[in-house]
Amino acid sequence: MMRTDPFHRAANILRENQPAVAFTGAGVSAASGIPTFRAADGVWARFPVEEYGTADAFTRDPERCWKLFGELSRQLGDIRPNRAHQGLARLEEIGLLDAVITQNIDNLHQRAGSRRVIELHGTAATAHCPRCKRRFRSEELPTWPPAPRCPECRAVVRPDVVLFGDPMPVDAMEQAHRLIDAAGTVLAVGTSLQVLPASWLVLEAARRRVPVILVDPSPSPDARRAATVVLQAPAEEAIPALVEIFAA
Ligand SMILES: [Zn+2]
Repeated sequence: MMRTDPFHRAANILRENQPAVAFTGAGVSAASGIPTFRAADGVWARFPVEEYGTADAFTRDPERCWKLFGELSRQLGDIRPNRAHQGLARLEEIGLLDAVITQNIDNLHQRAGSRRVIELHGTAATAHCPRCKRRFRSEELPTWPPAPRCPECRAVVRPDVVLFGDPMPVDAMEQAHRLIDAAGTVLAVGTSLQVLPASWLVLEAARRRVPVILVDPSPSPDARRAATVVLQAPAEEAIPALVEIFAA
């Protein structure tokens, strides 16, 4: 029985179908305490993204948008990578994972030690001045409130995250396409595979018969159909269990 359980099947697929690339979403950071869109009492309920997190809203009233950005960066400052991030970094270290493509903006893959991380939705770790284009590390900005301003030109600084209404970052999308095109295995972790255009990358790989290992505690029927093997568990449990097989 041991050899046919999903974790050993996934390990065999990963070993035999290199190179592998991981594709991660919110579920990988859930155990780190990242607030999700759906949490009714969270920051998103107080500052709805349609109102505070769009490119238009920032152009109209950047100080107001910083109510959302400031609250998010305060929460992001308190969190740490969890065992899912650490396990993915370990897979890269032992040569079984080429890169992580992520929809997350929390910088936790890098902090866990992943070296090659493609951020499809940008990052909260850096920011820029929309007027003079000066760049900042978020930790060097003065703590909100008030909204941080560029020391050169006094414009309100913008986090390097993809807001609703922004185009997807071209470089990141191209790198992601190249990685998925070359992949022998796709490890999809903590993503519902329902957000376009990112999910298209994974479903396209599945359509080309590239094995997809899906880590999701409650996979949708579509995601289940796309997957070669489903590890039905939270990322912070499934990824360490997978890594452990290679250590044995
Ligand atoms: Zn400036």
